[in-house]
Amino acid sequence: MIREVIIGVGVALTIFLAFFGVNVFPFLLLTAVLVALSMMVDRKGIATTGSKESAVAHRIDFQQIGGQENAKRELREALDFLKYRDKIKSMGIRPLKGILLTGPPGTGKTLMAKAAATYTDSVFVSASGSEFVEMYVGVGASRVRELFKKARSLAKREGKDSAIVFIDEIDVVGGKRGSGQGHQEYDQTLNQLLTEMDGMQTTQNPFVLVIAATNRVDMLDPALLRPGRFDRQIKVDLPDREGRLHILEIQTKNKPLADDVDLDVIAKETFGFSGAQLESLTNEAAILALREGKDKIHLQHLRDAVDKVLMGEKTGKKPTEDELHRVAVHELGHAVTAENVRPNSVAHITIAPRGNALGFVRQVPENDAYLYTKEQLENQIKVALGGAVAEELIYGNRSTGAQNDFMQASHLARTLIHCGLSRLGIVDAENLQKNILDEEIRRILAEQEEETRKLLASYKDRLESLSNYLVDRESMPGEDFRAWLKGKSDIAQREVAATTA
Ligand code: ADP
Ligand code: MG
Ligand code: ZN
Repeated sequence: MIREVIIGVGVALTIFLAFFGVNVFPFLLLTAVLVALSMMVDRKGIATTGSKESAVAHRIDFQQIGGQENAKRELREALDFLKYRDKIKSMGIRPLKGILLTGPPGTGKTLMAKAAATYTDSVFVSASGSEFVEMYVGVGASRVRELFKKARSLAKREGKDSAIVFIDEIDVVGGKRGSGQGHQEYDQTLNQLLTEMDGMQTTQNPFVLVIAATNRVDMLDPALLRPGRFDRQIKVDLPDREGRLHILEIQTKNKPLADDVDLDVIAKETFGFSGAQLESLTNEAAILALREGKDKIHLQHLRDAVDKVLMGEKTGKKPTEDELHRVAVHELGHAVTAENVRPNSVAHITIAPRGNALGFVRQVPENDAYLYTKEQLENQIKVALGGAVAEELIYGNRSTGAQNDFMQASHLARTLIHCGLSRLGIVDAENLQKNILDEEIRRILAEQEEETRKLLASYKDRLESLSNYLVDRESMPGEDFRAWLKGKSDIAQREVAATTA
């Protein structure tokens, strides 16, 4: 309305000025720019609200969620309360109002909430806890009110009799009330949320179900977890190997894979990856393949993508030729030790600088292990020290490149001690005297270092020649490395030829 008046006056004024011989061109130009700007703002506004409201635009169903079999089953069971709520009502069962999804980021909680909307044929509206937090008191509370109102009106408009309100990062508003740096604004927002949930009835049409997500359930105000509120908690954990395979299959469905790709190999090598990281891995692999002008994604692309997701993009760092040789020797030291203490454990060796690392040996995790024995921990210490020990063996000195390795090794030694696996026996970790702890860490490291040195000494000459090869090639798959170790590869043959010549 106001806009129309301004435009009208503007046009009149321009004509008036032009009539008196004023140069109106700059005005016209300015007007054109302003109009263009305001149109852009409009467009953006529509896009952001539109993408959140429309339930049809992104129909996600449970089949598009890999792994998470338990979580999916529990969620479906809970949703059946909503789906068959007439029956539930006739049995006098209290309706389910809230479901809380807990777990680390990128494991598919948002996907689950969307799939829940599809499964129950509900409309889907969402907001994130951080959106409710503003400087002005009361804004958060009124946003919560609006969110629920929006859910109801959207359901009516689309002719559905239920709505799902998804609140991501609920810990931001649902933290313990009045505790610590408790903030009045957060409290009001939380109170409003509880009020909305308490007011919901089964008889209400449309029925509203709240699904919330957090990775910090311990932080939540207990009032949220009371019966009649979020009384279902479903854990959405990092996927296990089978789950990772399933996710990789889903994420590569639309991508051309070469015959040499065995997704199970990648699933095995990606312990600890979330669904989101696996998604990013498949995407990166496709980009790498494209960059190389290939029309299919090969195993090597997927492996490089694992490195990239773990370590970041290759950096522009350009080590000197000498440094490259040293890095190669260092990484091979890790790799030879790893294969010796745990055969078939080396997945990939690379000396391309990524993130903060100059090189890196990726190991196959021990079958998704959650418990380690003393021997396994000691072996991991050897692998961590292998880099520095190899440098010393070949160059007679060490470099700063092993700083991280030493931190890792000391951490492992500490774990040994705290778990009662050291010579100190069972200890009270909290009251252990610092000098005794330090002494024992030093002893463990020295012992493992000595064993690693003995092991690598027998590889001295071969390490040198393989490092030349690695400097040429930049990276090496685990299989090639094992073939070399067993003296069965072309590289080994060449080595033999060179020494006999
Ligand atoms: P969260 O909400 O737990 O942080 P999201 O649901 O937002 O995780 O996941 C982000 C992206 O990661 C998804 O859009 C999807 O591409 C991928 N993803 C995460 N988990 C899975 C899974 N279990 N199956 C398939 N894809 C997944
Ligand atoms: Mg999410
Ligand atoms: Zn190292």
